[in-house]
Amino acid sequence: MEKIKMTTPLVEMDGDEMTRILWRMIKEELLLPYIDLKTEYYDLGLEHRNETDDQVTLDSAEATKKYGVAVKCATITPNAARMTEYNLKEMWRSPNGTIRAALDGTVFRAPIVVKGIEPCVRNWEKPITLARHAYGDVYKNTEIKVPGPGKAELVFTAQDGTQIRETIHNFTGSGILQGIHNTDESITSFAKACFNFALDTKQDLWFATKDTISKKYDHNFKDIFQEIYETSYKEKFEAAGIEYFYTLIDDAVARVMKAKGGFIWACKNYDGDVMSDMVSSAFGSLAMMTSVLVSPSGVYEYEAAHGTVQRHYYKHLQGEETSTNSVATIFAWTGALRKRGELDGIEELMIFADKLEKATVKTIEEGKMTKDLALITSLKDVTVLNSEDFIKAVRVTFESL
Ligand code: NAP
Ligand code: MG
Repeated sequence: MEKIKMTTPLVEMDGDEMTRILWRMIKEELLLPYIDLKTEYYDLGLEHRNETDDQVTLDSAEATKKYGVAVKCATITPNAARMTEYNLKEMWRSPNGTIRAALDGTVFRAPIVVKGIEPCVRNWEKPITLARHAYGDVYKNTEIKVPGPGKAELVFTAQDGTQIRETIHNFTGSGILQGIHNTDESITSFAKACFNFALDTKQDLWFATKDTISKKYDHNFKDIFQEIYETSYKEKFEAAGIEYFYTLIDDAVARVMKAKGGFIWACKNYDGDVMSDMVSSAFGSLAMMTSVLVSPSGVYEYEAAHGTVQRHYYKHLQGEETSTNSVATIFAWTGALRKRGELDGIEELMIFADKLEKATVKTIEEGKMTKDLALITSLKDVTVLNSEDFIKAVRVTFESL
């Protein structure tokens, strides 16, 4: 069989530890035999980031802007222990943070639904995609521990010196204070990324805030979404047969629990932080979550939602067998290849991505899986495979389709 040809390179961001091992296996077993893989390779492994003073991360983000689609392996975010382990020059920033800042994106996470790994919420038949605004609010706050009686005020000073002043509270005793902000620019980017992603994936979009209580702050989120929807997306949504739906956050939470799934839930930063952990754990496992960063300019970076699986890597280094789940990393590749196919009009690439995803899911549904899934599956008589044998089993299924 002739290999599938690509025209534009994918930006390939290699990573660390166990996921770096999986990365190579996936390429060798599942991609290179079928695709004339064209990538621009960036080694984001911690050693190379350290050698290049993290320039490689910035370069990979720039390349992503240039080509439009990247696929990223999980990477170590250094902490004190890593400083000694890797003898680092500096405690380099999180590559995900650097890339997110460069692309100004929104992160969309969705579970990979497989029969036999049922969500705890019985009526969730389809995946729920969570879109988290990744800027501002309580994550960029300023706080004061109020020592005793006094007046707290909120003051804005314009460039010309004029001021807006509001009393927050007249304290009669000790207490606490918090200042938070967001920008119209960031909210606008967030809204556009959500509307584009809904169109891309043909799913309804839900958005919720607490605008009845927060009449200016949260209301501003609601208004920006509504205005962008009316002016730029309403017709496209109607043509695609999908809808945009706004409600209060508490109502959204109640409805989500009763829904069938199959929609995108856009959340403010804090809501997204909390709700994405709830949704992902209810669906089963971080190793069964896709994650894609989408910028307002239409640049896509695909990755797995989990980390580098350090504990398994140390076992691997000691020559022990591992059973690490490669599904999310396989889906990062298929997501990126499908998008590349879409943008370049290469239908075989899109078909390949669909088929590889189908083969991965089918392998698990036939009872062949890694240990993490074997522990939570409702299937009987499962075969627990090691990291490499699972990938090989996916290849066998792929060949049979
Ligand atoms: P982790 O790599 O996600 O792993 C935590 C635990 O979850 C593992 O020990 C394992 O449990 C289980 N697990 C996660 N992924 C799995 C998979 N694919 N297959 C099977 N089990 C899986 O998180 P971490 O150990 O806290 O972090 C390790 C490194 O990853 C850190 O240096 C961190 O900075 C980095 N990190 C990177 C990203 C990213 O690049 N996107 C995200 C998060 C963390 P058991 O040990 O019980 O089997
Ligand atoms: Mg969290």
